[in-house]
Amino acid sequence: MQTVYTFGGNAPHEDERQKDKTVTGGKGANLAEMASIGLPVPPGFTITTEESVRYLNEGEDFSDTLRSDVAEALTHVEQTVGKRFGDAGDPLLVSVRSGARVSMPGMMDTVLNLGLNDETVQGLAATSGDKRFAWDSYRRFIQMYSDVVLGLDHGLFEEALEIAKEDRGYFSDTELEADDWEGLVTEFKDIVERELGKPFPQDVNEQLWGAIAAVFDSWDSDRAKVYRRLNSIPAEWGTAVNVQAMVFGNMGDSSATGVAFTRDPSTGERAYYGEWLVNAQGEDVVAGIRTPQYLTKAARENAGAEKPSMEEAMPDAFGELARVFDLLESHYKDMQDIEFTVQQGKLWMLQTRSGKRTAKAALKMAVDMVGEGLIDEETAILRVDPMALDQLLHPTLDPDARRDVLTRGLPASPGAASGKIVLDADTAEEWAKREEAVVLVRVETSPEDIHGMHAAKGILTARGGMTSHAAVVARGMGRPCVSGASGVSINLAERTLRIGDRELTEGDVITLDGASGEVMAGEVPTIEPELAGDFGVLMEWADKHRRMNVRTNAETPADCRTARGFGAEGIGLCRTEHMFFDAGRISAVRAMILADDEAGRRAALERLLPEQRGDFAEIFRTMAGLPCTIRLLDPPLHEFMPTRDEEFEALSDDLGVGVDHLKRRASELHEFNPMLGHRGCRLGITFPEIYEMQARAIFEAACEVTGEGGEPVVPEVMIPLVATKRELAILRALVDRVAEEVFAEKGTTLDYLVGTMIELPRAALMAGEIAEEARFFSFGTNDLTQTALGVSRDDASRFLGEYVDKGIYSRDPFVSLDVDGVGQLVELAVERGLSTRGDIKLGICGEHGGDPESIGFCEEVGLDYVSASPYRVPIARLAAAQAAL
Ligand code: PEP
Ligand code: MG
Repeated sequence: MQTVYTFGGNAPHEDERQKDKTVTGGKGANLAEMASIGLPVPPGFTITTEESVRYLNEGEDFSDTLRSDVAEALTHVEQTVGKRFGDAGDPLLVSVRSGARVSMPGMMDTVLNLGLNDETVQGLAATSGDKRFAWDSYRRFIQMYSDVVLGLDHGLFEEALEIAKEDRGYFSDTELEADDWEGLVTEFKDIVERELGKPFPQDVNEQLWGAIAAVFDSWDSDRAKVYRRLNSIPAEWGTAVNVQAMVFGNMGDSSATGVAFTRDPSTGERAYYGEWLVNAQGEDVVAGIRTPQYLTKAARENAGAEKPSMEEAMPDAFGELARVFDLLESHYKDMQDIEFTVQQGKLWMLQTRSGKRTAKAALKMAVDMVGEGLIDEETAILRVDPMALDQLLHPTLDPDARRDVLTRGLPASPGAASGKIVLDADTAEEWAKREEAVVLVRVETSPEDIHGMHAAKGILTARGGMTSHAAVVARGMGRPCVSGASGVSINLAERTLRIGDRELTEGDVITLDGASGEVMAGEVPTIEPELAGDFGVLMEWADKHRRMNVRTNAETPADCRTARGFGAEGIGLCRTEHMFFDAGRISAVRAMILADDEAGRRAALERLLPEQRGDFAEIFRTMAGLPCTIRLLDPPLHEFMPTRDEEFEALSDDLGVGVDHLKRRASELHEFNPMLGHRGCRLGITFPEIYEMQARAIFEAACEVTGEGGEPVVPEVMIPLVATKRELAILRALVDRVAEEVFAEKGTTLDYLVGTMIELPRAALMAGEIAEEARFFSFGTNDLTQTALGVSRDDASRFLGEYVDKGIYSRDPFVSLDVDGVGQLVELAVERGLSTRGDIKLGICGEHGGDPESIGFCEEVGLDYVSASPYRVPIARLAAAQAAL
């Protein structure tokens, strides 16, 4: 298998493997593709992802094949550029960068200016005619290489640089002259030798292989692992390495570097969008060290900025860039995210990839591109990540609310977030674990902050532009973010900060508006999102293409209304026990549980009946004839048990029974393993009066609402935690009997279904038999996962993270269905259920019903519907359409 692919110059780009991201990574594949359509790409080569996997698995050694293939590829680069690597007179310099299959912004390592040493720096000075540039490049290289490859703390070099500036009375780096940089190079080399006990490598080949190894190793760095876990990226993918001839954006005022998007990644508007810096090198833009300038005149004017846009300052290079933008969009048929460099007036493309975007932008671009004839409806549906819709479905700031604006930064990622200020990522994670809403406030973020960004509701940075690390990562995560808010200054030692002219302390509450860039004091009220426009259009397309229905898990009329607004086509799971916790009811529930006998239970149930009937009636009204699956009582009774003395006392007063007696009763009911104990249909078998009351409430409510006119109600009564046919037969007979009683009393009748959840492995295995008693199956994949894996759903979080890190499960099986294992049980139950009842209705109501990947599986096995929590309904609609395409 070919280990290395060359690109640029006269390299062949025909090999399919070279354009396959799984082989050459996203960056490598796109560099080859750009070169093949004639765009100006500096020549280079890509080492395949397969080689990095081999290297990491086989004891971190390079194969002889790889060594000779790299040498040959390097010759291609040398010949194309007309310079030699390590040539003291006119050296070729290269960049070495990682490039995984999917982009992992800032997660992995890059080394620039590689190939400089004490001799070649002289050659670079001579050929560029710019001594300062040469020595500045050399010191940058030592700094970067020492950090990335040699593992030295970059602070050591920063410190030396600061001292050098102080000694000379300089304020900024730009004041340093060639001799100053040369002096610093000596100091930097001394630092390396002092720290490592050996000199900085002068052999350019040693430099190259060191950098390649570092990129390979970076795949397994802690921050890459965290990123992979958060984004469900498998460990076995590995990363490619791209070695490419350097072009320089820091060769004076006719040189520049920038990043750009072919459309606005925040709003989706069709406008070139980006940032650039004159006389700067690659990472300067994204690192947020200098605040970049606008790309277009319009954007600059809009922002009221002074410094000229690229369109104004370098009209020729900008014109060329605009031509490239259009070529790339029509070639890739998608919005592109681009890195470029202008070296002495000539434009070079360093990267293109399909750009990350906010959900709003994704929707707009998908809908617009269909209008432009660039893509079709199906492609548009597939373009939008269902999970990204989450960003749009959540509330934004109420425009009428009072805003105590402290300062304003860049609107880097939309949405509103309020929370307590935290000043570092670990604190963010810690406080979030205590269920506190936090806003992470940093000078700028780096990949080390990723866990804190994830834990936070929003992110605020003092520095950095729209493409800074904070902005890119926040948009990807759907966290609101305001970046580059220069009115923020942080005192980490004192844990205080100043925002605008206000002094604040860690823990004070602020609100961010990621759409306007405003930072406000305190918590600002929010409003529900508007779901018309592009969202409505895409959803309409999705509905046209999906086969499965989408229902919701809801138990309050308010949730039902939200879900219907989001397009739910029925209720897939109404957990009746949630209605038992209301203040007025819990004491009747407790009285029922702790009663000594059936008579005592019935007395308590009498009190609950009108309440439940009222709930169901309201839900039926809200759902207006759509199917409603109501599940009878499921959880272990201990969940309702009083625990505090005051609770026992209140209950004692209510029932006229002594506290001691109640406590004794409570301890009699204690279970060691309640999730596998007296719960689900086992309650209905042993205390039939509970299910009788619930069935009565359902049918009375259904008759009442049907009697009001409207669409007739067809209740679907669902029995939980069934393991055997006989359990279901007994409870179905009970429900049928109560239905007959109610119909006789009301002098009317209506259709209804009795069915069961499939949430125990035995039920899945015996589904053929169970289907004889069930009109429908609803897969309760929460319990099915718990019981099939033998992993407690309530305690799993303590170890599951590590399981996912170690690749034991590729994703949390409670979030995304374990298709290989639990999936088999579902598949088997579907098959067996259908074999005895050909028209059995099949759905899923575990959390997986709102997870796009699991929804894909549901489509494959032929379920009729998925049921998701209200805010997940649009996600499920889109995912169901994608699954059907
Ligand atoms: C399930 O087990 O998947 C289910 C939907 O029921 P619950 O989560 O209420 O146990
Ligand atoms: Mg369950």
